[in-house]
Amino acid sequence: MVYLITGGAGFVGSHLAERLLERGDEVLLMDNLSTGSMENIRHLKKYDRMHYFLEPLENRQLLAELVDEADVIFHLAAAVGVKLIVESPVRTIETNVNGTQMVLEAACRKRKLVFTASTSEVYGKNINVPFHEDADLVLGPTTKGRWSYAASKALDEFLALSYWKEKKQPVVIARLFNTVGPRQTGRYGMVMPNFVGQALEGAPITVYGTGRQSRCFCDVRDSVEAILRLVATDKAVGEVTNVGTDHEVTIEGLAHMVKERTGSSSPIQFIPYDEAYEPGFEDMFRRVPCLDKLERLTGFRPRTTLPEIVDRVASHLRGKRAATTHVTVGIASA
Ligand code: UDP
Repeated sequence: MVYLITGGAGFVGSHLAERLLERGDEVLLMDNLSTGSMENIRHLKKYDRMHYFLEPLENRQLLAELVDEADVIFHLAAAVGVKLIVESPVRTIETNVNGTQMVLEAACRKRKLVFTASTSEVYGKNINVPFHEDADLVLGPTTKGRWSYAASKALDEFLALSYWKEKKQPVVIARLFNTVGPRQTGRYGMVMPNFVGQALEGAPITVYGTGRQSRCFCDVRDSVEAILRLVATDKAVGEVTNVGTDHEVTIEGLAHMVKERTGSSSPIQFIPYDEAYEPGFEDMFRRVPCLDKLERLTGFRPRTTLPEIVDRVASHLRGKRAATTHVTVGIASA
């Protein structure tokens, strides 16, 4: 099979590409490297079944050609990360909404199946956990930038579902809950790479707010498995499905676990939201998915435990640090 992945040089996209290539599929990868990087896919260049195009989705001619060649399209290109959203709201809204529109329009001409990645952010301030896919979305006011991400992703979902209802364009939508693992960057504020990076450097582990807010973290390998199973079943077409784990941890609890598992002596530092993001920032207090639908449709439930995930991220970052030190020493002694 031939798969097109938009955002294929990003964190989730590169893991998906790796998995498809390992199992023998052909991968066309489109990425403008805005948040993705060549470093994420360099190890995949050894496959002659991998073809990458460092172009934006606005290159509609290329997009149309790649859609023609592909059997299935994974649309993962998006602006993600709360820090990025707060700092660059225009980019977030335009990238997320316009990108999905362009992909759906191109795919619809050929009726190619489109997988669209959405996010648990769309549940917003809803406090009725676990979140069922048909729950109300409770977003904050438009004056608070954070909610533009949830609103743009919710619009993506509306658009995809409308293409299915009105034009019979097949779509599969997944709401990803805090996907983490090797290669995720902390540059856009994500907590797991931030905490592990800080612990390894001996720098303060920065807990925003009280630290009593909680999240459920899902290993990217499990998210990829769930995504692949969703696109493989007709039952998921025209459906929205949660993808994640329901094992909840507070952010302070995560900080302690990271400190302990990395053997770090870093202090844990609490930083008010106003300082970490922007004045008046609103966080989501809890975010737990109901996974019954995922299990019913795919027979799969993510199982990687949090300690395992922390260890995997730590070992990846240690490897990266060792490689950097090696290069620096090499240059210094050259
Ligand atoms: N967070 C934190 N320290 C950091 C980065 C994030 O305490 O260095 C908190 C953040 O405020 C949120 C949680 O960790 O409550 C998860 O943040 P992330 O950006 O990873 O994902 P979100 O669930 O907010 O999309």
